[in-house]
Amino acid sequence: MNYPYVTEFRQSLVEWFEKEKRDLPWRHTKDPYKIWVSEVMLQQTRVDTVIPYYNRFMESFPTLELLAEAPQEYLLKHWEGLGYYSRARNLQAGVREVLESYGGIVPDNRHEISKLKGIGPYTAGAILSIAYNKPEHAVDGNVMRVLSRVLNIHDDIALPKTKKIFEAAVAELIDPENASSFNQGLMELGALICSPTSPKCLLCPVREYCTAFNEGEPENLPIKSKKVKMKHISYDVYVCEDEDGRILMEQRPEEGLLANMWQFPMVEQEDDSLIKFAHHHDLNVQAHQQILTFKHIFSHLTWHVNAYYMKSKTGEKGEWLTREQIELLPMPVPMLKIWQAIK
Ligand code: SF4
Repeated sequence: MNYPYVTEFRQSLVEWFEKEKRDLPWRHTKDPYKIWVSEVMLQQTRVDTVIPYYNRFMESFPTLELLAEAPQEYLLKHWEGLGYYSRARNLQAGVREVLESYGGIVPDNRHEISKLKGIGPYTAGAILSIAYNKPEHAVDGNVMRVLSRVLNIHDDIALPKTKKIFEAAVAELIDPENASSFNQGLMELGALICSPTSPKCLLCPVREYCTAFNEGEPENLPIKSKKVKMKHISYDVYVCEDEDGRILMEQRPEEGLLANMWQFPMVEQEDDSLIKFAHHHDLNVQAHQQILTFKHIFSHLTWHVNAYYMKSKTGEKGEWLTREQIELLPMPVPMLKIWQAIK
């Protein structure tokens, strides 16, 4: 990393944090157990929501020994409404490991602390830096947003491997004397000033050293591709020809995917799809054979297609068209594939 303002950046960030930080209950302690609890509660949950839970939790479980001994139902009662209950169970399991394997002292190095149940790279770095002032990275979404702007990083933060780039950046930038305030400063800056859509750059303590601010478009960072969830549907497609050589066709609905295109009748695959199809069209199917199996990928959807050819007497329903007529119809690619196979 070639970033010329490391010293100035650190100093501005740390000074700003120490002056402007919000007064939050877990900021009154350096007890690694309490920092741990706060960090686990803050995963997926807003600060305002966490505060009363944290205070109640600390009244009931002020030490890790008390948490380790707590019946699980009693523990979960304290978590009720926070959601993601596995967090509470993992926390208790991790605390028990600390008692069993580390004499009740939360480890102060990444290697050991990372072995504890429920502690990933972020939580490990947060505990090590905040409680022990160790210069360890703690990279979450806020930190990636701030640093992508300051350092002009254009890697896609939706990809898990990108986190390593930011961890390496923090490892170089972090103030070795003030690791706690540095990491919390980055998080606080992301929460209060460097917001996703309208960063308050004019109030920002590091704007002089921020590449995106100086280039004028911080809102364009970070780059985050949308995760597309692919849907899969299996279809049976029936090419049904009558004794006169005409083929049953159907037109797709006016709206939606491939609107108004023509296709051989297709039905979502079920055990009795063929029977239902024949019944629906009043067909008298004499024989059928599978002609093609393939998949067709749309942007969010994959069709798994089984195409069949069959002979039937002309049914009462549907559009029966000659091959010449079919040649003239607009058909989507998967249907053209089947058509080629038929021809
Ligand atoms: S100057 Fe603006 S974009 Fe840069 S870190 Fe500060 S708030 Fe974020």
